[in-house]
Amino acid sequence: EKRGIEGPHEDSIKVVVRVRPLLKREIERSPECLVDIDNDQSIVLSPGVNSLQARKYREAQKFTFSKCLWSYDKRTSVPYADQNTVFAEVGSELLDNTLDGFNSCVIAYGQTGSGKTYTMMGTDDEDGLIPMVCRQLFTRLDQQVHTKVQVKISFIEIYQENVYDLLGNGSKLRVRENSERIPFIENLNEYNVSDSREIMKLLNEGFEKRTTAETHLNKQSSRSHSILTVTVVQEKFDPATGSLVKLKSNLKLVDLAGSEKFVASDGLDKTRQQEGSRINKSLVTLGRVLTILSQRPTKKTVIPYRDSILTWLLKENIGGNSKTIMIACVSPTDFDETLSTLRFATITS
Ligand code: ADP
Ligand code: MG
Repeated sequence: EKRGIEGPHEDSIKVVVRVRPLLKREIERSPECLVDIDNDQSIVLSPGVNSLQARKYREAQKFTFSKCLWSYDKRTSVPYADQNTVFAEVGSELLDNTLDGFNSCVIAYGQTGSGKTYTMMGTDDEDGLIPMVCRQLFTRLDQQVHTKVQVKISFIEIYQENVYDLLGNGSKLRVRENSERIPFIENLNEYNVSDSREIMKLLNEGFEKRTTAETHLNKQSSRSHSILTVTVVQEKFDPATGSLVKLKSNLKLVDLAGSEKFVASDGLDKTRQQEGSRINKSLVTLGRVLTILSQRPTKKTVIPYRDSILTWLLKENIGGNSKTIMIACVSPTDFDETLSTLRFATITS
């Protein structure tokens, strides 16, 4: 079933919320847990009783999404929406779409410390979406008969509206558009890979490069967006017609810069202020683009993809026939930032 450019399929943009558990160092300070479970689609955020916010916002606020994944149950203190749950909720769906020949992307949004990298990459002990999706991709490709397959990856970061190749020599790259108005990154390194271990090895090299560049450019990874692109080319032999069908699609896995507000009067130096306003610009543009897409645009609707490098590069993965899943990550103790993340996530659903 084709979804058509005139309006995405109603579930082509999906928003999932993930609440991370209280961290050990937070538990020591015995904070108030400000979020509560309503059902698996709703989250209730309350201002608590001790915070400054309690005076400003008297009422708890309820938000509803495709799914709310809870990492923590206040009543039982049992963590349960683990990495496998997240994979089951979003990973399989993205893989189905990729193998069917459609582009897709998964975007982790949220303040620094809310669990974006934990969700996308995981830790040494608990694989996140990226390693799980990559492993499952090869498992599923191996099961296909009559298919010739090629898998390629690239890994970039966007910092201050510039693109850096995390698998290259670290130089800035230019974004251009081909004759079909499809954006591409000039001179980007792409690697052929034949299993998920190769991908993880390349990613780890990329992360090392990112750390070196951080020292060099005096930046933090929480200030940049990273995008892993997995491109799958399948050539299927159709026994019925005796012909070859070629399917090409890519999946982008995006770990966004922290969405926290950068207040100019905070005594931040000029670089930090500039970082903040550029991050805000790309996140605001992302919000606008997703909002327009979720309102069933017509062919004439102008979608401001090119207003930020992030949305420009995601153009082929969030519009048209593609499938987008945003995972809005929230911390259970930060009222202001959680409210702002839930509001952002609401305008796109
Ligand atoms: P971000 O990338 O959004 O800045 P991180 O992913 O680094 O945040 O998460 C901050 C901390 O919280 C890390 O120590 C991480 O391991 C932990 N954490 C985040 N989400 C979870 C979760 N769902 N379960 C357990 N620990 C988590
Ligand atoms: Mg992170």
